[in-house]
Amino acid sequence: MGQILVLGAGECGLPLAHRLLHGGRPVTLVTDRDAEAVLAGTVTSTQVKFPPTLDLESDLGLGFWRSIAPNIEGIRFTMAVDRAAVVTWAGRLTRPAQSVDQRTVFARWLGEYLARGGDLRIGEPSLAELEHSAAGYDLTVVTRAGRELAGCFEADPAWPAPAAPLRRLAVLYLDGVEPDPEGLGSYTTLPEHGEVISYPGLTGRPGQERRCEILLFEARPGGALDVFDQHGTPAQRWAQARRLLEAHLPAGLAERYRHAEPTDAGATLVGAVTPVMRRPVGALPSGRPVLGGGDVVCRMDPGGAQGANNAVHCALRYGEAILHDPDGPYDSQWMEWAAAPWLTAVAYPAARWTATVLDPPPAMQEMMLAAQHDTTLADAFADTFARPANLARLATTVA
Ligand SMILES: Cc1cc2nc3c(=O)[nH]c(=O)nc-3n(C[C@H](O)[C@H](O)[C@H](O)COP(=O)(O)OP(=O)(O)OC[C@H]3O[C@@H](n4cnc5c(N)ncnc54)[C@H](O)[C@@H]3O)c2cc1C
Repeated sequence: MGQILVLGAGECGLPLAHRLLHGGRPVTLVTDRDAEAVLAGTVTSTQVKFPPTLDLESDLGLGFWRSIAPNIEGIRFTMAVDRAAVVTWAGRLTRPAQSVDQRTVFARWLGEYLARGGDLRIGEPSLAELEHSAAGYDLTVVTRAGRELAGCFEADPAWPAPAAPLRRLAVLYLDGVEPDPEGLGSYTTLPEHGEVISYPGLTGRPGQERRCEILLFEARPGGALDVFDQHGTPAQRWAQARRLLEAHLPAGLAERYRHAEPTDAGATLVGAVTPVMRRPVGALPSGRPVLGGGDVVCRMDPGGAQGANNAVHCALRYGEAILHDPDGPYDSQWMEWAAAPWLTAVAYPAARWTATVLDPPPAMQEMMLAAQHDTTLADAFADTFARPANLARLATTVA
């Protein structure tokens, strides 16, 4: 039974390394930053996680925030035109979701990994260095890939590959936002411009966590929300965000942010995600196969709130597959076998759901309208975020 190498200590790499450690399997985790560097950095996501994911983390002894993170009870959907709410409904999740700053989570999980005896190496191996390292391990799992390494994983031809991002993103973590009266996350769609999404979360150094509000602008490129500067400071970005909220959100919603301020110097992020589905088995230049996980294989726009959930499910399924076959051999065939259940049950439905949410087909648009008068449908819509595989069932919920 040899050692497993895991590259990248995020939503996929960390739970996988923990699962292997817990199962008695020697593992080496390689990542670019230690816990202090993660905490000193900027926010990286908005990371809403749904109960099936939170349960997996709790089962692994990693659910440190279950009792302290604010619950997100469901979705307050609004379609707004010229600041007027033209469609509104509230859908409740069967069980609440939560969002904890990835800086807090990764720092704590890294600390626990070391405390539990895990082998951690800090570095950013080049492709040649990874090739060299991989030769000394039974299996290499890649959960982080720059352009060169990503090129070792073929795009899956069965999936459409947009050439450009569908949205341009701006994230702000804020103090001082008035909470939603029913603990709901708000999802406001501005036809032709994009979406403004906001919910309560937890941020701060482990042991000093505090509540915040997490605000995400999903701007259609060239639309009115597409204003954020790559090089702006948190204060400048908050000034831009405040102007957008006041210009586009119904007054009652915008009012909630009147006394808000960024939580810290790293409280904002501006960028974009080009979705891609890759084959799970990559080949290093020598031909050595490596197993891809998380975003390396299935990268989605955040509008469907799926990527972190998907990555944690991937980690746990890969962990079980490795522990099931302690002696491998971990060849390409084994890797295809290990990845198939995750892809079929989690990643593909999540990618389909995300595409549907961002560009709702006519049937889905009708459902969004019908949900105004049908609480069961509104609740089912909210719950499909937690279980995207239920998308087909959503259609049968219409009264
Ligand atoms: C704005 C935004 C909002 C989002 N909101 C949500 C949401 O609400 N819900 C949801 O489920 N998902 C959301 N996501 C997606 C989610 O954050 C990702 O899908 C998830 O983090 C992917 O997990 P991963 O393990 O594949 O990669 P990551 O979590 O990104 O982990 C990769 C790790 O690799 C490390 N690393 C980086 N470079 C190197 C290197 N060169 N060498 C070694 N290690 C390196 C990083 O430090 C990190 O630890 C959002 C994403 C964005 C951008």
